[in-house]
Amino acid sequence: MYRRNNIVIRLGLMIIGIMIIASLSGSTVVNFYLSGKYWIHEPLHSSIEAMGSLAALCLAILVLLLQRYEGYTAHRVWISCAFASMGTLDLFHASSTPGVAFVWFRSVATFAGGLFFVLTLIRDRKVRPVVAFFPPAAIALSGLILGSLCAYHPHILPLMVKEGRFTVSAMAINLAGGIFFLIAAANFLRMFLARGRPDELIFLNLCLLFGLAGVLFPASELWSLNWWLWHVLRFGAYLITLPYLFFIFQRFETGLQKIVAELRRSNEELEQFAYVASHDLKEPLLSVASNIKLLQRRITKGHPEETNEFIEKSLQQLTMMQALISDLLIYSRVGTQARPFEKVACDAVLSRAVENLSTRIEQKQATITADPLPEVMADQVQMVQLMQNILGNALKFCEDKAPVIHVSAVRGEGEWIFSVRDNGIGIPPEEREHIFEMFGRLHKDKFHGTGIGLATCKKIVERHNGRIWVTSDQGQGSTFFFTVPIHDSLQGIGP
Ligand code: ADP
Repeated sequence: MYRRNNIVIRLGLMIIGIMIIASLSGSTVVNFYLSGKYWIHEPLHSSIEAMGSLAALCLAILVLLLQRYEGYTAHRVWISCAFASMGTLDLFHASSTPGVAFVWFRSVATFAGGLFFVLTLIRDRKVRPVVAFFPPAAIALSGLILGSLCAYHPHILPLMVKEGRFTVSAMAINLAGGIFFLIAAANFLRMFLARGRPDELIFLNLCLLFGLAGVLFPASELWSLNWWLWHVLRFGAYLITLPYLFFIFQRFETGLQKIVAELRRSNEELEQFAYVASHDLKEPLLSVASNIKLLQRRITKGHPEETNEFIEKSLQQLTMMQALISDLLIYSRVGTQARPFEKVACDAVLSRAVENLSTRIEQKQATITADPLPEVMADQVQMVQLMQNILGNALKFCEDKAPVIHVSAVRGEGEWIFSVRDNGIGIPPEEREHIFEMFGRLHKDKFHGTGIGLATCKKIVERHNGRIWVTSDQGQGSTFFFTVPIHDSLQGIGP
Protein backbone atom coordinates (compact mmCIF):
# COMPACT_ATOMS: atom_id res chain seq x y z
CA MET A 1 0.00 0.00 0.00
CA TYR A 2 2.86 2.34 0.81
CA ARG A 3 5.84 2.92 -1.39
CA ARG A 4 9.25 3.34 0.17
CA ASN A 5 9.55 7.07 0.18
CA ASN A 6 13.05 8.43 0.82
CA ILE A 7 11.83 11.88 1.93
CA VAL A 8 9.46 10.38 4.54
CA ILE A 9 12.24 8.08 5.77
CA ARG A 10 14.78 10.90 6.03
CA LEU A 11 12.31 13.19 7.75
CA GLY A 12 11.33 10.40 10.15
CA LEU A 13 14.94 9.66 11.05
CA MET A 14 15.59 13.37 11.56
CA ILE A 15 12.67 13.66 14.01
CA ILE A 16 13.91 10.61 15.94
CA GLY A 17 17.43 12.09 16.09
CA ILE A 18 16.06 15.40 17.43
CA MET A 19 14.03 13.56 20.07
CA ILE A 20 16.96 11.50 21.31
CA ILE A 21 19.24 14.56 21.47
CA ALA A 22 16.54 16.70 23.17
CA SER A 23 15.75 14.07 25.82
CA LEU A 24 19.38 13.23 26.57
CA SER A 25 20.43 16.87 26.78
CA GLY A 26 17.35 17.63 28.91
CA SER A 27 18.32 14.82 31.25
CA THR A 28 21.96 16.02 31.40
CA VAL A 29 20.94 19.61 32.20
CA VAL A 30 18.56 18.45 34.92
CA ASN A 31 21.08 16.02 36.42
CA PHE A 32 24.09 18.31 36.45
CA TYR A 33 22.68 21.79 36.93
CA LEU A 34 19.30 21.36 38.53
CA SER A 35 19.76 18.29 40.73
CA GLY A 36 18.28 18.52 44.18
CA LYS A 37 15.52 20.86 42.96
CA TYR A 38 11.93 19.85 43.64
CA TRP A 39 8.59 21.21 42.52
CA ILE A 40 5.45 19.89 44.16
CA HIS A 41 2.34 20.55 42.11
CA GLU A 42 -0.27 17.85 42.45
CA PRO A 43 -3.00 19.45 40.26
CA LEU A 44 -0.61 19.85 37.32
CA HIS A 45 0.64 16.30 37.71
CA SER A 46 -2.91 14.90 37.89
CA SER A 47 -3.94 16.90 34.82
CA ILE A 48 -0.98 15.63 32.77
CA GLU A 49 -1.65 12.05 33.79
CA ALA A 50 -5.41 12.33 33.20
CA MET A 51 -4.82 13.73 29.71
CA GLY A 52 -2.31 10.95 29.00
CA SER A 53 -4.78 8.36 30.21
CA LEU A 54 -7.58 9.72 28.01
CA ALA A 55 -5.24 9.90 25.03
CA ALA A 56 -4.22 6.25 25.58
CA LEU A 57 -7.84 5.07 25.89
CA CYS A 58 -8.84 6.98 22.73
CA LEU A 59 -5.88 5.49 20.87
CA ALA A 60 -6.79 1.98 22.08
CA ILE A 61 -10.29 2.36 20.63
CA LEU A 62 -9.07 4.08 17.45
CA VAL A 63 -6.46 1.44 16.65
CA LEU A 64 -9.12 -1.21 17.23
CA LEU A 65 -11.84 0.43 15.12
CA LEU A 66 -9.50 1.28 12.29
CA GLN A 67 -9.01 -2.43 11.70
CA ARG A 68 -12.58 -2.65 10.41
CA TYR A 69 -11.36 -0.81 7.33
CA GLU A 70 -7.77 -2.00 7.10
CA GLY A 71 -8.06 -5.62 8.21
CA TYR A 72 -7.64 -7.14 11.65
CA THR A 73 -4.02 -7.99 12.49
CA ALA A 74 -2.21 -9.29 15.56
CA HIS A 75 0.12 -6.24 15.74
CA ARG A 76 -2.79 -3.83 15.93
CA VAL A 77 -4.38 -5.95 18.64
CA TRP A 78 -1.17 -5.81 20.74
CA ILE A 79 -0.89 -2.05 20.24
CA SER A 80 -4.52 -1.58 21.26
CA CYS A 81 -3.88 -3.77 24.36
CA ALA A 82 -0.87 -1.61 25.24
CA PHE A 83 -2.93 1.60 25.11
CA ALA A 84 -5.85 -0.05 26.96
CA SER A 85 -3.59 -1.15 29.83
CA MET A 86 -1.79 2.20 30.08
CA GLY A 87 -5.04 4.16 29.80
CA THR A 88 -6.88 2.35 32.60
CA LEU A 89 -3.93 2.20 35.02
CA ASP A 90 -3.00 5.85 34.41
CA LEU A 91 -6.56 6.80 35.24
CA PHE A 92 -6.04 5.41 38.75
CA HIS A 93 -2.59 6.97 38.92
CA ALA A 94 -3.98 10.41 38.02
CA SER A 95 -6.71 10.19 40.65
CA SER A 96 -4.58 8.93 43.57
CA THR A 97 -2.42 10.92 45.98
CA PRO A 98 1.36 10.33 46.08
CA GLY A 99 2.10 7.08 47.88
CA VAL A 100 2.63 3.39 47.26
CA ALA A 101 -0.46 2.85 45.04
CA PHE A 102 0.28 6.04 43.13
CA VAL A 103 3.76 4.80 42.09
CA TRP A 104 2.52 1.23 41.63
CA PHE A 105 -0.14 2.25 39.05
CA ARG A 106 2.34 4.22 36.96
CA SER A 107 5.04 1.55 37.15
CA VAL A 108 2.68 -1.28 36.16
CA ALA A 109 1.28 0.89 33.33
CA THR A 110 4.82 1.32 31.93
CA PHE A 111 5.57 -2.37 32.34
CA ALA A 112 2.29 -3.58 30.75
CA GLY A 113 2.46 -1.04 27.90
CA GLY A 114 6.06 -1.99 27.11
CA LEU A 115 5.24 -5.69 27.27
CA PHE A 116 2.36 -5.41 24.81
CA PHE A 117 4.38 -3.22 22.47
CA VAL A 118 7.25 -5.71 22.52
CA LEU A 119 4.82 -8.40 21.33
CA THR A 120 4.85 -6.65 17.94
CA LEU A 121 8.19 -8.40 17.46
CA ILE A 122 6.21 -11.57 16.81
CA ARG A 123 5.43 -11.96 13.10
CA ASP A 124 2.21 -10.17 12.17
CA ARG A 125 -0.80 -12.18 10.97
CA LYS A 126 -4.45 -11.65 10.19
CA VAL A 127 -6.95 -12.33 12.99
CA ARG A 128 -10.72 -12.70 13.08
CA PRO A 129 -12.69 -9.61 14.22
CA VAL A 130 -14.05 -11.36 17.35
CA VAL A 131 -10.52 -12.34 18.34
CA ALA A 132 -9.30 -8.78 17.69
CA PHE A 133 -11.82 -7.10 19.99
CA PHE A 134 -11.56 -9.52 22.87
CA PRO A 135 -7.98 -8.95 24.22
CA PRO A 136 -8.08 -5.11 24.47
CA ALA A 137 -11.55 -5.26 26.08
CA ALA A 138 -10.34 -7.91 28.54
CA ILE A 139 -7.18 -5.90 29.31
CA ALA A 140 -9.18 -2.70 29.97
CA LEU A 141 -11.56 -4.62 32.25
CA SER A 142 -8.69 -6.31 34.13
CA GLY A 143 -7.02 -2.88 34.46
CA LEU A 144 -10.18 -1.50 36.07
CA ILE A 145 -10.55 -4.47 38.44
CA LEU A 146 -6.83 -4.46 39.38
CA GLY A 147 -6.89 -0.67 39.76
CA SER A 148 -9.92 -0.70 42.09
CA LEU A 149 -8.44 -3.55 44.13
CA CYS A 150 -5.11 -1.78 44.59
CA ALA A 151 -6.76 1.59 45.29
CA TYR A 152 -8.83 0.13 48.13
CA HIS A 153 -6.18 -2.26 49.48
CA PRO A 154 -2.81 -0.54 48.98
CA HIS A 155 -1.31 -2.65 51.82
CA ILE A 156 -1.22 -5.69 49.50
CA LEU A 157 1.23 -3.88 47.20
CA PRO A 158 5.03 -4.11 47.45
CA LEU A 159 6.77 -1.01 48.85
CA MET A 160 7.33 1.33 45.90
CA VAL A 161 8.49 4.56 47.55
CA LYS A 162 10.28 5.28 50.82
CA GLU A 163 11.01 8.78 52.09
CA GLY A 164 10.46 10.27 48.63
CA ARG A 165 12.90 7.81 47.00
CA PHE A 166 11.78 4.98 44.73
CA THR A 167 12.47 1.44 45.94
CA VAL A 168 14.37 -1.18 43.96
CA SER A 169 11.04 -2.86 42.98
CA ALA A 170 9.73 0.42 41.52
CA MET A 171 12.99 1.01 39.65
CA ALA A 172 13.10 -2.56 38.32
CA ILE A 173 9.51 -2.50 37.04
CA ASN A 174 9.99 0.85 35.29
CA LEU A 175 13.38 -0.08 33.89
CA ALA A 176 12.00 -3.35 32.49
CA GLY A 177 9.04 -1.49 30.95
CA GLY A 178 11.38 1.14 29.48
CA ILE A 179 13.62 -1.54 27.96
CA PHE A 180 10.57 -3.26 26.44
CA PHE A 181 9.56 0.04 24.86
CA LEU A 182 13.07 0.60 23.48
CA ILE A 183 13.14 -2.91 21.96
CA ALA A 184 9.73 -2.24 20.38
CA ALA A 185 11.06 1.12 19.10
CA ALA A 186 13.99 -0.66 17.42
CA ASN A 187 11.54 -3.05 15.79
CA PHE A 188 9.33 -0.20 14.53
CA LEU A 189 12.48 1.46 13.16
CA ARG A 190 13.27 -1.74 11.24
CA MET A 191 9.72 -1.88 9.84
CA PHE A 192 9.71 1.82 9.05
CA LEU A 193 13.00 1.59 7.12
CA ALA A 194 11.63 -1.36 5.16
CA ARG A 195 8.22 0.08 4.30
CA GLY A 196 8.19 3.81 5.07
CA ARG A 197 4.68 3.67 6.61
CA PRO A 198 3.80 6.81 8.63
CA ASP A 199 2.08 4.70 11.34
CA GLU A 200 5.32 2.91 12.09
CA LEU A 201 7.17 6.20 12.45
CA ILE A 202 4.56 7.44 14.94
CA PHE A 203 4.65 4.25 17.03
CA LEU A 204 8.45 4.31 16.83
CA ASN A 205 8.53 7.83 18.31
CA LEU A 206 6.00 6.92 20.97
CA CYS A 207 7.93 3.80 22.06
CA LEU A 208 11.21 5.71 22.01
CA LEU A 209 9.91 8.44 24.35
CA PHE A 210 8.17 5.95 26.66
CA GLY A 211 11.36 3.87 26.65
CA LEU A 212 13.52 6.87 27.59
CA ALA A 213 11.00 7.83 30.30
CA GLY A 214 11.21 4.27 31.69
CA VAL A 215 15.01 4.13 31.79
CA LEU A 216 15.29 7.64 33.27
CA PHE A 217 12.89 6.68 36.08
CA PRO A 218 15.50 5.08 38.42
CA ALA A 219 17.53 8.33 38.36
CA SER A 220 14.58 10.37 39.64
CA GLU A 221 12.93 11.10 42.99
CA LEU A 222 9.32 12.04 43.71
CA TRP A 223 8.69 15.68 42.58
CA SER A 224 12.34 16.18 41.52
CA LEU A 225 12.97 17.90 38.17
CA ASN A 226 14.17 14.54 36.82
CA TRP A 227 10.79 13.14 37.75
CA TRP A 228 9.04 15.95 35.86
CA LEU A 229 11.34 15.35 32.89
CA TRP A 230 10.12 11.84 32.23
CA HIS A 231 6.53 13.07 32.68
CA VAL A 232 7.22 15.60 29.94
CA LEU A 233 8.69 12.85 27.73
CA ARG A 234 5.59 10.68 28.13
CA PHE A 235 3.26 13.60 27.56
CA GLY A 236 5.27 14.46 24.43
CA ALA A 237 4.87 10.86 23.28
CA TYR A 238 1.09 11.20 23.37
CA LEU A 239 1.26 14.56 21.60
CA ILE A 240 3.35 12.99 18.86
CA THR A 241 0.66 10.40 18.36
CA LEU A 242 -1.82 13.13 17.42
CA PRO A 243 -0.69 13.11 13.76
CA TYR A 244 -1.93 9.54 13.77
CA LEU A 245 -5.46 10.99 13.78
CA PHE A 246 -4.49 13.10 10.80
CA PHE A 247 -3.23 10.10 8.87
CA ILE A 248 -6.41 8.21 9.67
CA PHE A 249 -8.51 11.09 8.37
CA GLN A 250 -6.37 11.29 5.25
CA ARG A 251 -6.65 7.55 4.69
CA PHE A 252 -10.44 7.62 5.00
CA GLU A 253 -10.63 10.52 2.60
CA THR A 254 -8.49 8.70 0.03
CA GLY A 255 -10.64 5.60 0.53
CA LEU A 256 -13.81 7.63 -0.03
CA GLN A 257 -12.39 9.28 -3.14
CA LYS A 258 -11.57 5.82 -4.50
CA ILE A 259 -15.12 4.63 -3.86
CA VAL A 260 -16.60 7.69 -5.57
CA ALA A 261 -14.31 7.18 -8.60
CA GLU A 262 -15.26 3.50 -8.70
CA LEU A 263 -18.98 4.39 -8.55
CA ARG A 264 -18.58 6.86 -11.37
CA ARG A 265 -16.75 4.32 -13.47
CA SER A 266 -19.31 1.59 -12.86
CA ASN A 267 -22.08 4.03 -13.72
CA GLU A 268 -20.40 4.79 -17.02
CA GLU A 269 -20.02 1.07 -17.58
CA LEU A 270 -23.75 0.55 -16.97
CA GLU A 271 -24.53 3.20 -19.56
CA GLN A 272 -22.27 1.42 -22.02
CA PHE A 273 -24.01 -1.88 -21.26
CA ALA A 274 -27.36 -0.26 -21.97
CA TYR A 275 -25.96 0.96 -25.27
CA VAL A 276 -24.77 -2.54 -26.17
CA ALA A 277 -28.13 -4.08 -25.33
CA SER A 278 -30.04 -1.53 -27.37
CA HIS A 279 -27.68 -1.24 -30.32
CA ASP A 280 -24.91 -3.75 -30.82
CA LEU A 281 -26.89 -6.84 -29.81
CA LYS A 282 -29.93 -5.66 -31.79
CA GLU A 283 -27.94 -5.24 -34.97
CA PRO A 284 -26.99 -8.91 -35.59
CA LEU A 285 -30.48 -9.97 -34.51
CA LEU A 286 -32.11 -7.66 -37.07
CA SER A 287 -29.74 -8.96 -39.69
CA VAL A 288 -30.54 -12.60 -38.85
CA ALA A 289 -34.26 -11.82 -38.99
CA SER A 290 -34.02 -10.14 -42.41
CA ASN A 291 -31.87 -13.01 -43.76
CA ILE A 292 -34.42 -15.55 -42.62
CA LYS A 293 -37.23 -13.53 -44.23
CA LEU A 294 -35.26 -13.48 -47.51
CA LEU A 295 -34.60 -17.19 -47.07
CA GLN A 296 -38.29 -17.82 -46.72
CA ARG A 297 -38.96 -16.01 -50.02
CA ARG A 298 -36.11 -17.81 -51.85
CA ILE A 299 -37.17 -21.25 -50.63
CA THR A 300 -40.57 -20.67 -52.15
CA LYS A 301 -38.93 -19.54 -55.41
CA GLY A 302 -36.23 -22.30 -55.40
CA HIS A 303 -32.71 -20.64 -55.29
CA PRO A 304 -30.49 -23.21 -53.47
CA GLU A 305 -27.16 -21.23 -53.75
CA GLU A 306 -28.54 -17.99 -52.41
CA THR A 307 -30.36 -19.94 -49.70
CA ASN A 308 -27.04 -21.38 -48.55
CA GLU A 309 -25.45 -17.92 -48.51
CA PHE A 310 -28.25 -16.49 -46.33
CA ILE A 311 -27.99 -19.40 -43.92
CA GLU A 312 -24.21 -18.91 -43.77
CA LYS A 313 -24.60 -15.18 -43.05
CA SER A 314 -27.22 -15.80 -40.40
CA LEU A 315 -24.97 -18.34 -38.70
CA GLN A 316 -22.09 -15.85 -38.75
CA GLN A 317 -24.26 -13.21 -37.13
CA LEU A 318 -25.36 -15.67 -34.49
CA THR A 319 -21.74 -16.66 -33.75
CA MET A 320 -20.89 -12.96 -33.46
CA MET A 321 -23.72 -12.49 -31.01
CA GLN A 322 -22.62 -15.47 -28.96
CA ALA A 323 -19.06 -14.07 -28.83
CA LEU A 324 -20.39 -10.66 -27.79
CA ILE A 325 -22.55 -12.08 -25.03
CA SER A 326 -19.84 -14.36 -23.69
CA ASP A 327 -17.21 -11.55 -23.78
CA LEU A 328 -19.64 -9.24 -22.01
CA LEU A 329 -20.17 -11.91 -19.39
CA ILE A 330 -16.41 -12.30 -18.86
CA TYR A 331 -16.12 -8.50 -18.55
CA SER A 332 -18.90 -8.21 -15.99
CA ARG A 333 -17.50 -11.16 -14.00
CA VAL A 334 -14.28 -9.21 -13.31
CA GLY A 335 -16.35 -7.20 -10.83
CA THR A 336 -19.05 -9.67 -9.81
CA GLN A 337 -16.99 -12.85 -9.40
CA ALA A 338 -13.81 -11.34 -8.04
CA ARG A 339 -11.88 -13.61 -5.67
CA PRO A 340 -9.62 -12.46 -2.82
CA PHE A 341 -5.96 -11.93 -3.69
CA GLU A 342 -3.55 -14.76 -2.97
CA LYS A 343 0.08 -15.51 -3.73
CA VAL A 344 0.17 -16.28 -7.46
CA ALA A 345 3.17 -17.58 -9.41
CA CYS A 346 3.08 -15.78 -12.76
CA ASP A 347 5.08 -18.58 -14.44
CA ALA A 348 2.12 -20.86 -13.71
CA VAL A 349 -0.30 -18.17 -14.93
CA LEU A 350 1.53 -17.98 -18.26
CA SER A 351 1.62 -21.80 -18.63
CA ARG A 352 -2.14 -21.99 -18.02
CA ALA A 353 -2.85 -19.22 -20.56
CA VAL A 354 -0.60 -20.93 -23.15
CA GLU A 355 -2.33 -24.25 -22.47
CA ASN A 356 -5.76 -22.64 -23.04
CA LEU A 357 -4.54 -21.21 -26.35
CA SER A 358 -2.62 -24.34 -27.45
CA THR A 359 -4.80 -25.10 -30.51
CA ARG A 360 -4.43 -21.56 -31.88
CA ILE A 361 -0.69 -21.54 -31.10
CA GLU A 362 -0.26 -24.73 -33.11
CA GLN A 363 -2.42 -23.52 -36.01
CA LYS A 364 -0.44 -20.29 -36.25
CA GLN A 365 2.91 -22.03 -35.63
CA ALA A 366 3.61 -19.37 -33.03
CA THR A 367 6.68 -19.20 -30.81
CA ILE A 368 6.14 -18.02 -27.23
CA THR A 369 9.15 -17.43 -24.97
CA ALA A 370 9.35 -15.97 -21.48
CA ASP A 371 11.82 -14.77 -18.85
CA PRO A 372 11.34 -16.02 -15.29
CA LEU A 373 8.25 -14.30 -13.87
CA PRO A 374 7.69 -13.17 -10.25
CA GLU A 375 5.09 -14.09 -7.65
CA VAL A 376 2.41 -11.48 -7.01
CA MET A 377 -0.62 -11.03 -4.77
CA ALA A 378 -3.50 -11.37 -7.21
CA ASP A 379 -6.66 -13.12 -8.31
CA GLN A 380 -5.27 -16.17 -10.09
CA VAL A 381 -8.26 -16.68 -12.41
CA GLN A 382 -8.19 -13.06 -13.51
CA MET A 383 -4.42 -13.10 -14.06
CA VAL A 384 -4.85 -16.08 -16.43
CA GLN A 385 -7.68 -14.22 -18.22
CA LEU A 386 -5.48 -11.13 -18.56
CA MET A 387 -2.50 -13.04 -19.94
CA GLN A 388 -4.75 -15.09 -22.22
CA ASN A 389 -6.43 -12.00 -23.73
CA ILE A 390 -3.11 -10.29 -24.46
CA LEU A 391 -1.52 -13.46 -25.89
CA GLY A 392 -4.71 -14.19 -27.86
CA ASN A 393 -4.50 -10.76 -29.51
CA ALA A 394 -0.79 -11.22 -30.24
CA LEU A 395 -1.69 -14.46 -32.04
CA LYS A 396 -4.60 -12.86 -33.87
CA PHE A 397 -3.22 -9.52 -35.04
CA CYS A 398 -0.30 -10.70 -37.16
CA GLU A 399 -0.92 -11.04 -40.84
CA ASP A 400 1.26 -13.50 -42.75
CA LYS A 401 4.17 -14.02 -40.37
CA ALA A 402 4.25 -16.75 -37.75
CA PRO A 403 3.73 -14.94 -34.41
CA VAL A 404 6.79 -14.57 -32.18
CA ILE A 405 5.82 -13.51 -28.65
CA HIS A 406 7.99 -12.79 -25.63
CA VAL A 407 6.76 -12.31 -22.05
CA SER A 408 8.89 -10.74 -19.32
CA ALA A 409 8.73 -8.77 -16.06
CA VAL A 410 11.02 -6.19 -14.48
CA ARG A 411 10.92 -4.70 -10.97
CA GLY A 412 9.85 -1.05 -10.94
CA GLU A 413 9.28 1.42 -8.07
CA GLY A 414 7.03 -0.68 -5.79
CA GLU A 415 5.57 -2.67 -8.68
CA TRP A 416 6.27 -5.39 -11.22
CA ILE A 417 6.12 -4.23 -14.84
CA PHE A 418 5.07 -7.09 -17.11
CA SER A 419 5.44 -6.90 -20.86
CA VAL A 420 4.15 -9.00 -23.76
CA ARG A 421 5.95 -8.24 -27.04
CA ASP A 422 4.71 -9.46 -30.43
CA ASN A 423 5.75 -9.11 -34.07
CA GLY A 424 2.24 -8.35 -35.32
CA ILE A 425 0.64 -5.55 -37.31
CA GLY A 426 1.18 -2.88 -34.65
CA ILE A 427 -1.17 -0.12 -33.52
CA PRO A 428 -1.21 3.50 -34.78
CA PRO A 429 -0.23 6.04 -32.05
CA GLU A 430 -3.61 7.82 -32.03
CA GLU A 431 -5.45 4.54 -31.25
CA ARG A 432 -3.30 3.37 -28.34
CA GLU A 433 -5.71 4.57 -25.66
CA HIS A 434 -8.92 3.94 -27.58
CA ILE A 435 -8.29 0.17 -27.87
CA PHE A 436 -8.64 -0.22 -24.06
CA GLU A 437 -12.16 1.20 -24.17
CA MET A 438 -15.20 -1.01 -24.49
CA PHE A 439 -15.76 -1.91 -28.21
CA GLY A 440 -12.60 -0.02 -29.17
CA ARG A 441 -11.71 -1.99 -32.29
CA LEU A 442 -9.47 -1.29 -35.25
CA HIS A 443 -9.18 -3.45 -38.39
CA LYS A 444 -12.89 -4.33 -38.19
CA ASP A 445 -13.09 -5.73 -41.71
CA LYS A 446 -9.92 -7.85 -41.50
CA PHE A 447 -10.28 -9.47 -38.09
CA HIS A 448 -13.25 -10.80 -36.17
CA GLY A 449 -13.64 -9.60 -32.63
CA THR A 450 -15.86 -7.95 -30.07
CA GLY A 451 -13.63 -5.14 -28.82
CA ILE A 452 -14.16 -6.25 -25.21
CA GLY A 453 -10.92 -8.20 -24.61
CA LEU A 454 -8.64 -5.26 -23.77
CA ALA A 455 -11.39 -3.48 -21.80
CA THR A 456 -11.52 -6.64 -19.66
CA CYS A 457 -7.71 -6.55 -19.31
CA LYS A 458 -7.90 -2.92 -18.16
CA LYS A 459 -10.59 -3.75 -15.63
CA ILE A 460 -8.57 -6.65 -14.23
CA VAL A 461 -5.36 -4.60 -13.99
CA GLU A 462 -7.16 -1.70 -12.30
CA ARG A 463 -8.75 -4.08 -9.79
CA HIS A 464 -5.17 -5.04 -8.90
CA ASN A 465 -4.21 -1.34 -8.54
CA GLY A 466 -2.03 -1.47 -11.65
CA ARG A 467 -1.81 0.27 -15.02
CA ILE A 468 -1.94 -1.03 -18.58
CA TRP A 469 -0.62 0.56 -21.78
CA VAL A 470 0.84 -0.31 -25.15
CA THR A 471 3.79 0.83 -27.23
CA SER A 472 4.12 -0.09 -30.87
CA ASP A 473 6.23 0.20 -34.02
CA GLN A 474 3.62 0.27 -36.69
CA GLY A 475 3.99 -2.84 -38.86
CA GLN A 476 6.74 -4.21 -36.60
CA GLY A 477 4.73 -5.31 -33.61
CA SER A 478 3.37 -4.11 -30.29
CA THR A 479 4.37 -4.45 -26.65
CA PHE A 480 1.61 -4.51 -24.06
CA PHE A 481 2.69 -3.50 -20.54
CA PHE A 482 0.81 -3.93 -17.28
CA THR A 483 1.85 -3.44 -13.67
CA VAL A 484 1.04 -5.25 -10.44
CA PRO A 485 2.06 -3.63 -7.12
CA ILE A 486 4.64 -5.53 -5.06
CA HIS A 487 2.91 -6.63 -1.89
CA ASP A 488 4.76 -6.09 1.42
CA SER A 489 4.85 -9.85 2.07
CA LEU A 490 6.54 -10.50 -1.31
CA GLN A 491 9.08 -7.64 -1.10
CA GLY A 492 12.21 -9.72 -1.54
CA ILE A 493 10.74 -12.28 -3.93
CA GLY A 494 11.38 -12.09 -7.66
CA PRO A 495 12.95 -13.79 -10.63
P1 ADP B 1 -10.89 -7.72 -30.19
O1 ADP B 1 -9.62 -8.49 -30.19
O2 ADP B 1 -12.07 -8.56 -29.86
O3 ADP B 1 -11.08 -6.90 -31.41
P2 ADP B 1 -9.70 -6.30 -28.01
O4 ADP B 1 -10.33 -5.42 -26.99
O5 ADP B 1 -8.98 -7.51 -27.52
O6 ADP B 1 -10.84 -6.67 -29.01
O7 ADP B 1 -8.70 -5.42 -28.86
C1 ADP B 1 -9.12 -4.15 -29.31
C2 ADP B 1 -8.39 -3.77 -30.57
O8 ADP B 1 -7.00 -3.53 -30.28
C3 ADP B 1 -8.36 -4.86 -31.60
O9 ADP B 1 -9.52 -4.84 -32.40
C4 ADP B 1 -7.11 -4.56 -32.40
O10 ADP B 1 -7.41 -3.63 -33.38
C5 ADP B 1 -6.20 -3.90 -31.37
N1 ADP B 1 -5.18 -4.85 -30.87
C6 ADP B 1 -5.24 -5.56 -29.73
N2 ADP B 1 -4.14 -6.30 -29.57
C7 ADP B 1 -3.35 -6.05 -30.65
C8 ADP B 1 -2.06 -6.52 -31.05
N3 ADP B 1 -1.33 -7.38 -30.31
N4 ADP B 1 -1.56 -6.03 -32.22
C9 ADP B 1 -2.26 -5.15 -32.96
N5 ADP B 1 -3.49 -4.68 -32.60
C10 ADP B 1 -4.02 -5.12 -31.48
